[in-house]
This record gives sequence, C-alpha cells and structure tokens, in this order.
Amino acid sequence: MKQVALLGATGSIGTAALDLARAHPDRIRLVSLAARSNDQALIRAAEAFRVKRIALVDPEAARRARASSWKGEVLEGEEALVTLAEEEGVDVVVNAVVGGIGLKPTVAALTRGKRVALANKESVVLAGELLTAIAKRSGGVLMPVDSEHSGVFQCLEGRDIGDVRRVTLTASGGPFLRRDPKTILDATPEEVLRHPTWSMGERITVDCATLINKGFEVLEARWLFGLPPEKLDVVIHPQSIVHAFVEFVDGSVLAQLSMPDMRLPLLYALSYPERWESDLPRLPLTDLTALSFEPPDPARCPGLLLARRGLLLARRALETGGTAPAVLNAADEEAVRLFLGRKIRFGDLMPLVEDVLAGHRPQAGALTLDAVLEAVSWARGRLHEGAAPTMRP
Ligand code: NAD
Ligand code: MG
Repeated sequence: MKQVALLGATGSIGTAALDLARAHPDRIRLVSLAARSNDQALIRAAEAFRVKRIALVDPEAARRARASSWKGEVLEGEEALVTLAEEEGVDVVVNAVVGGIGLKPTVAALTRGKRVALANKESVVLAGELLTAIAKRSGGVLMPVDSEHSGVFQCLEGRDIGDVRRVTLTASGGPFLRRDPKTILDATPEEVLRHPTWSMGERITVDCATLINKGFEVLEARWLFGLPPEKLDVVIHPQSIVHAFVEFVDGSVLAQLSMPDMRLPLLYALSYPERWESDLPRLPLTDLTALSFEPPDPARCPGLLLARRGLLLARRALETGGTAPAVLNAADEEAVRLFLGRKIRFGDLMPLVEDVLAGHRPQAGALTLDAVLEAVSWARGRLHEGAAPTMRP
C-alpha cells in the first residue's frame, strides 16, 4: 500500500490521480490533498477518499473550508505544500500543481528521500541540476509523469545510458500545426485552448501551441536522464500515440506507445518497478493505420514557424545553463497568464519571453535554490516591464 500526498488534486492530473486511487484502493492510500483555491472540490475529494488533512494555498479558500461542515485539518499558504510533501509516513508525493510554486515541495520531498511522481515539470525546468544532486544524496527518486518522459524511462529501464545514441520526444504540434502563421498572431485563448489530442490544464495547453512545452520537455529530459542536449530530439507526431523513441548505439530503436491518457504514466510512476493491472483504455493496434512523424519543419507545418521559437528558446536556455531555464519558465508563466487574461496577443507571447531571456545574465557556479528563486522574481518583473507598452486595458 502506497501512502500518497497529492498536490494539485483539483487539476487535470490531480483528477487523473483521484481516478487511479478509486481504481486501486488496495494499492493507493491518499493521506493528504492540496490545491490552490477550489475548497469545494478539494473537500469533496477528501470526503470521498477519507482524507483527514488538506491544504489550500489561498487563505480565503482555507477559511471557507474551516467554516464548512467537513471536520478534517485545513492547512493554508504556500508553505503548507511543503508540510504535506515532507510528512512522515508519506511514501510518494504526486506533485501535480502547475507553475514554479511546485519547486519547493519537490525539493522537500526529495530531501526526505521520498519518491516524487512528478507532473510539475516546472520543478525540473527551474532546478533540474539541483534536484538530481539532492536525489543522489538522499536516495529520493524522481519518477516522470510527463508522458514523453515516462516513455523514455520505460525504454531505458535496465540499460546503460552510455549505449543511447539519441532520444526523440514526440510533439502533437498543437492546434495550429497547418495554419498560416499570419492567421494565428491574434488567436484567442479559446482557439489556443482547443488541443487536438490531449485534455490538459490551461498553462500547458497554451505552451503546446507555442511549442515551448516541448522545449521544456527537452530540458526535463536533460536532467531526468542525464543526457547531453545534442542527443535530444523532437519530432512532430500529430496522433500522440508514440510518446518517445530511444535509439541505441547499435541502431536499434525502442518506442513507447499508448493512448493519450495521462493516467497511464501516472500509474507507472506509482507502481514502478511493478506493473499493476488496470482498466485504462487499450491501444487498438489494428486501428492504427496512419501514424506519422515529421520534423518540426516550417515548410510542412507552417503554424510552427511561430511556435518553433519556443523550442529554440529552450535550447538556448539549456546551452546557457544555470539560471537561464528558470528565467525562461518564469517569463513564460507570466506571459501565459497575461495572454489568458487577454492582456497580450498570442503572437506577442514568444517575443516577450525571448526579450526576458536575452536580458538575463546567468549566474555562474553551482545552482542554488536561492539563485533560482531570485532569477524567477527578476524574470517576472522584467516580463511585465516588457509587456507594458503592448498591454490592452
Ligand atoms: P491544472 O491547471 O489542470 O491544475 C493545476 C492544479 O494545481 C490545480 O489543482 C490547482 O489548484 C493547483 N494550483 C494552481 N496554482 C497553484 C498554486 N499557486 N498553489 C498551489 N496549487 C496550485 O494543471 P494540469 O494540467 O493538471 O498540470 C499540472 C502539472 O502537470 C503542470 O506542471 C503541467 O505542466 C504538468 N503536466 C500536465 C499534463 C496534462 O495532461 N494535464 C501532462 C504533462 C505534464
Ligand atoms: Mg508531455
């Protein structure tokens, strides 16, 4: 029986985790749940799974929860995420919060030697170098939940990383794959949020349309698997059935396939090294008549002309290293917020983020948590300064 703390319990991944807990009551016991501000959904989940301890980051939501008829303990504020993540008796922390706020609980759980089922990719993008160093010291384990990384992890199992020639992550290409770039500069949040294959939270869905999500995933793979940037590749695969390819030095290529359903990589992050029998949708092999793969080539995927900048920016941040990835993530997080609030245009997203990255002077030396947090706060301020002249009222 795995004792699980679930952070981000009300989101897309959080709900998938609740589904798994419902399907595997003999394997998964939820001991605590956290969310930002949806007290009603969180309490409903706490009642359904008999959880006694919840955390709401928003103090107003925490107040409402305490005033409700639910009788468990209610923690509040950002620090509460850390408290739940390091609680004794918790075996696995499922980190499914969105944004840089997920970093501290990841650090806390890893430091205590726990397993982190990590959906919060921002943790690795912000401080991958730091996390791998902590895990090495503490014996904590980072299990990828991102589908592509779960795929890579499964292909790599038991193999020598030195035998890997290339790792290729697949990208759906998002909603604008075949569109004329001129027609997407003013795309609305509604258009951007209509993802063709995955149903996900808002930030990551916007990041799929700019392809910066795939850039973040390259950064993630760099740290999760200790692979140099030149061995990491991206291919457009609109069907989202193959999640990753691993090519070995002898020329053999392994791939991981499954339906685009986040419950499967999440289940494996919990069950590993075991495999648990599940009722998740199976892959109808004989229906897979057309799986296609193409380079992120603007000639064939015109919409990616704009989007490819996200991928290129992440590559640049990866090469610069240090605090550059943290700056990239923080700038994008703010830019997406402004876009969803209809303050900036879709076409302004990547240029604004690019300006922030260009103005950053990366810190030298080993990465520290303080340096990361400082870079994050600098990037946020800088993004807002840059956006001010183009902001709509
Ligand atoms: P979501 O927006 O659906 O849910 C986010 C969750 O985080 C909610 O429970 C919300 O309450 C919580 N949250 C938001 N802001 C918070 C804050 N300031 N403090 C505490 N909690 C906060 O997002 P999602 O799609 O479930 O994504 C969660 C994470 O998983 C992200 O890092 C995302 O990149 C990653 N991820 C998601 C998918 C997917 O299919 N949804 C796939 C791969 C990776
Ligand atoms: Mg992914």
